[in-house]
Amino acid sequence: MRVLFIFLDGVGLGVDDPNINPFARLEMPFLQSLLGGNKLLAKSAPYVGERATLLPLDAALGVKGLPQSATGQAVLLTGINIPQEIGEHYGPKPNPAVAKFLLNGNLFSQLIKQNKTAALLNAYPPRYFDGVDSGKRLYSAIPLAVTSAGLRLFDKDDYYAGRALSADFIGDGWRGMLGFPDAPVYEPREAGNKLAELAKQYDFSFFEYWASDYAGHKQDMNWAIEQFKKFDDVLSGLCDQWDDKNGLILITSDHGNMEDLSTRRHTDAKVLGLLIGSVEARAAFVSGLPSRTGVPPLLATRTVNDLTGIYQRILNTLSA
Ligand SMILES: [Zn+2]
Repeated sequence: MRVLFIFLDGVGLGVDDPNINPFARLEMPFLQSLLGGNKLLAKSAPYVGERATLLPLDAALGVKGLPQSATGQAVLLTGINIPQEIGEHYGPKPNPAVAKFLLNGNLFSQLIKQNKTAALLNAYPPRYFDGVDSGKRLYSAIPLAVTSAGLRLFDKDDYYAGRALSADFIGDGWRGMLGFPDAPVYEPREAGNKLAELAKQYDFSFFEYWASDYAGHKQDMNWAIEQFKKFDDVLSGLCDQWDDKNGLILITSDHGNMEDLSTRRHTDAKVLGLLIGSVEARAAFVSGLPSRTGVPPLLATRTVNDLTGIYQRILNTLSA
């Protein structure tokens, strides 16, 4: 089995109120087709369908305060309740206390030890590496985990050669904001096809999308809607080319934010845990058992409830 992990920063499952929640206002025809016609809302989860399972995952983890990115991402990447260990939610970038957990071992380093292939499929622009090299920019939790596992971050050459994708999926950012007028651009469905093609080259691949958290902080309803219309097409293109027999797609987040634009802060909402793949692979993931040991039907008794459950389940799925 292979796993593609799509990380959407700051996406919780919110209320069905189009005044504050873009997911209540917006139509995502492809995603809704996976969810039996339901929108990506709190009331839609849990859901088990023919091709997808939607679970509500707790990101607050019993620690007071609002969940933050460094700790939330580090929990996903280690399986450890780091907010509980350090006594707070922390972010956006890891402080030494959070970094220690990631440097001590994480999903990427564990997979490399097991001789699996793994990659972060985002392409980073030259200015990102300049910032890191000059000490002005700290790694966020995900690139810190990747680089500490001895893997490299993909760069401009990788992007031009089609070995990695733009953080906005389609590449508009490279042509516009980043100033590379000849950079490749994709239609959203093509970007989804490309994501499937890249994910097939690894046992485990990861894609980080941060614009959702940004839209939440900006409280920008129109932009949020535009982003997720596009994301629905990306997802459609991805699933078109995805082989459910050999792979599982996991889409999750570190904390709520964009689902409640009445506040520019994060929320303590449950986050999406969306699995796309065969019934067997999804059931095995949810139950926490490798699929070769037998498949409990659909939603098994031992369900994954919070962000700490993701790490081990990915390892189990990849060893099946
Ligand atoms: Zn944020």
